[in-house]
This record gives sequence, C-alpha cells and structure tokens, in this order.
Amino acid sequence: MVRLESLVFFAQLAAFTTASPVQSTQGPQNNDAISKRENWNLDDLNKEFKGILWDNAFKDCNAGQLDKLIYTTRAAMSMLDLPFGDPEKKKEYKYTQGWNRYFGDYQWWLSNGFQDIEYATQIEHNLVQVQKYPREGHSSSTSNAKKIHFTCNYKAQVDGEKLCSSGITGAITVAPQGSSFERWTIAFCPYFFTSDKLKYLEDRTKGEKTTFAHIGDLDTYERVLAHELMHVDIVSYKPRHIEDVIGKLTPGGADLQIYGEGRCRDYARRDRPKANTAVRHNADNYSWFFLYYWFDVKWEWSKAGANADEPKTNNQNVEVASTSFPKNERDLQGSTGMPYGCTRHFLPLDSHFHPVVKCDYVGGDFTSKGGCDLTDQCRKPFANGNAVDPACVCTCDGKQTPLRDDKCAGFAGALPGRPSPP
Ligand SMILES: [Zn+2]
Repeated sequence: MVRLESLVFFAQLAAFTTASPVQSTQGPQNNDAISKRENWNLDDLNKEFKGILWDNAFKDCNAGQLDKLIYTTRAAMSMLDLPFGDPEKKKEYKYTQGWNRYFGDYQWWLSNGFQDIEYATQIEHNLVQVQKYPREGHSSSTSNAKKIHFTCNYKAQVDGEKLCSSGITGAITVAPQGSSFERWTIAFCPYFFTSDKLKYLEDRTKGEKTTFAHIGDLDTYERVLAHELMHVDIVSYKPRHIEDVIGKLTPGGADLQIYGEGRCRDYARRDRPKANTAVRHNADNYSWFFLYYWFDVKWEWSKAGANADEPKTNNQNVEVASTSFPKNERDLQGSTGMPYGCTRHFLPLDSHFHPVVKCDYVGGDFTSKGGCDLTDQCRKPFANGNAVDPACVCTCDGKQTPLRDDKCAGFAGALPGRPSPP
C-alpha cells in the first residue's frame, strides 16, 4: 500500500481554506530540466541543500510558490539549528520547556529504566538527523534516491489517491514504495500557499509578542516543513517510521489523530509521571518542539516562568480530516536500541548530573553490496555478540528483503547457522 502522510489542519479551520484564492498562474510544465527560474538557479539550490532535489519544484511550482518554498526551507534551517546552536542551552535542550511540553519531562524518561533512555535517545537522534539532512544530505551517496524531492504538483494521483484532497492539507509526504513517485517526495498543497493560518517564522517573530500559552496561534510554514521532513525515512531512525500517530489522550478515550499543539502536548503528558514513549513516533510532536524552542529563546518564555503543566486543551474531541493511512497506537511497535551514532558519556556528567547522550550525524541508511538499503542496526553486531542485530532490515527496490538474499550482503554480524562474514 502506498503511504501518504500529510499535515492536515483541524477541521474547524476548513472555512478559512476557501477564503484565499488558489494562485492561478501555474509554473512551466514540460519534461525538460529547467535550470533557471525567475530569481533562482537550480544548481545553486541543489548545492545549498544536498539532501533536497529541487528539479521538480522548478518545473511545477509557479513563481510565488517557488519563492515561498525556498524562503521557507532556508528559514526552517535556522529553526532546526537553534536547539544545537544556542550557546546558553547547547546540549541541554532535553531540560527545556519545549522538550518537556512535547516529549514529556526528561526525568520521566530517566526514571523508567534503560529502555526509555534508549527511546529518548532515538528522539535526539531524529532531531540531529532532521537538522542536518536537508543541507548535508546522505553521508555516502549523492544519488537522487537519497534526496527529498519537492513538488507543487499536488494534482498528481498516487494509486488513485488524490494528493491534498482534504483542502486543509498543508503538505504531503509520499514514500517511494509502490507509488508513481519514485523517490521520497514532499508535495506542497494549495493550503500551504493560501492559508491565512500560516506565516513565515520571521514575520511571527517580528510580530506582537505573546506568552507561551499562545504557541498554538503562532504556526508557520517552517513548522509544516519540519513535520513533513520527519516522515522521510531516509532521514530518521529506522526500522520504525515516524508517522501521524492515532492515539488516546486518556486511558480508554477515543482514538484521535495526534495533530496540533494541544493534542501533542497532552499526548506527551498522558502517562505521567512516566513518559509516553509513543511520542517518538509522531511527526507533529517534533515539529512543535522546534517551533516552541524558537520562541522560547527569542521571547525568553522560560525566563518569564513558562510552565508546560498548564491545563489540558479544550479541543480534544475535534475531528480532523484524515488523508493518510494511519496506524492505531496499539499497532505501534517500538523501535528498540540505541541509534547508531549515539553514545552515553558518564564522565563528565551534565549540569543535571546525568550522563550526557551525544548523537553524531549519521546521514541516513547505508548501502549493501547489492545496492539495497540497510538500516542503522545493520552497522554492528547485536549486543557486542557475533549475530546480526534482529532489527537490521534490508530493503531492495522498496521491498523488505530477507537478509539471506545475496543482495543484502554487507551487514555486520552473522545470520543464524552461518559463519560471520569476512
Ligand atoms: Zn504527517
């Protein structure tokens, strides 16, 4: 089945979607490569963003759309950089209000055993990866298959599913497997370009200052992009895909799509004083973390005494349009293990007297001898033994393939009953 995942806005906002006309001038449409557009040079952009391919956007976005995509992507980088580049908070973002609000108090993760600490490390890994991948790209491949393809061609259909069909879908991520898009693709929908609910991060920041309680009113193009980037499997930790989680906000409550600031916050705090470890699979939680962090720094919310433990939101029962193929929370199987590239350092301890977890940029999956994709877990044998990690997954031409297939050779460790590879 084709996987489509989108950022859909709350249904009660639908009335606004018709208020702005869709921009009428379509971009040039032909199959030739287009290397120059009004203000832009394709080569320069592909060099600036080694993890993104702009070729389709150059063909199918109109001038205004292309401007918006490029401005958004550049500014999103500033937003994604901030948790790593803020001198006051470097390496300490786990102890900020933003983390607390969208992933749950870090103390909760620490107090529930080693597995939860590994899960928290997966979040850190994903934050590092999404910050680096758009600019740095894949660590070892310059293939177009390892780039995120941008397009405005929302009219394209994928196996009969129309993209952007809800009218309140901001953007949609399409996995390459079995779809007419051969690569990981983010399609930007009319709503992204016309909604009056979205503004540039810069304009929000220059606008009227609000308190942290109004973060939900500060949505930006950059946050929408961050949400979609989380869905791209070549960026984030596998074998578990980061999706739009359907979950419960209270025990026995209704299944809801965990979209939107309020739901993400409540979901993160549902199991208090334990962490709700499923947040690590939900794209929207990551995107709100980045946006909140930005305003926390720019407007000094923490210094003003921001507190994530505010009352629950009142929009819990609002239905959202669904255009994706979500899985129920009960079907969520956790990815396990420390991500490759992340290590715990017990000395020196951090300012909260906990071990420092540090994740290096890994730059995506790696390639088997037969040209298939191997997940991070394939990089080293399981638990210091000689066996291949049970979580090592080989994907050939978009299909999960048994490791015994010769095409998958190149993983570390041995299969049961086989000697270890040389
Ligand atoms: Zn999504």
